[in-house]
Amino acid sequence: MYHDLPRDASFWSFLRTVDDDLAAETRKKGCSCGGRLHTADYPRKPRGIHPQLSEEQCLRLSFCCDREGCRKRTTPRSVRFLGRKVYLGAIVILISAMRQGPSPRRVRELSARFGANESTIARWQTFWREHFPQTPFWKVERARFITLGKTVVLPYSLVNAFLRGHPLCRGWTCLLRFLSPITVPGALQIKVSH
Ligand SMILES: [Zn+2]
Repeated sequence: MYHDLPRDASFWSFLRTVDDDLAAETRKKGCSCGGRLHTADYPRKPRGIHPQLSEEQCLRLSFCCDREGCRKRTTPRSVRFLGRKVYLGAIVILISAMRQGPSPRRVRELSARFGANESTIARWQTFWREHFPQTPFWKVERARFITLGKTVVLPYSLVNAFLRGHPLCRGWTCLLRFLSPITVPGALQIKVSH
C-alpha cells in the first residue's frame, strides 16, 4: 500500500537541491533589520541518510545577518530536516505512518534499516498525535484534508493524500515541501491558552 522511500542517493541529493532553492529565497529576503545574510550552515549528522552522501550534503542550511549589533540567525524551511530530530523528516513521517497502517512487519524492516528503536518511534507517534495537531500550521492547513465523515489520522492521512491522490502535487517531495513551514525554528511551538 505504501510507496517506499526511494533508496538511491540521488533522491537525497535531490532533496538537498530543493533545500538550496528554499535557502536562496530566504537569502534574497535578507534579515528583518535590512542586513544581508551570510552563510552559517549547521553540520548535522541525520540518521537514516544514504551512506554515499557527503558531509556537505547533510548540512542544515542557515544564515547569519552581517550587521554589527544584529547578527541574527535565520534558518530557512527544509524538506530534509524536521525540527531538531536526528532523523530525516521523510523517515519520521514514513515509519510513523506505517505504524498506523496494516503492515507491522514492514515497520520492523524499516526500523531496522534506519536504526530507529521502538521508543524512538513511540516518541514520533506522540509528536504526530498530540503535538503536531496543535501547531498553528496544522490548524490552518487541516481544512484541506478534512473530508466529510473521514477521520484524519496523522501522519497516515498526509502520506496517503500526497502519495496516492493529491490532485495538484504528488510524491514525497510535495509532501515534504508542504510540511516544510514546520521545519523553521519556533514553528513547532504551540500556544497554550489559559
Ligand atoms: Zn539583521
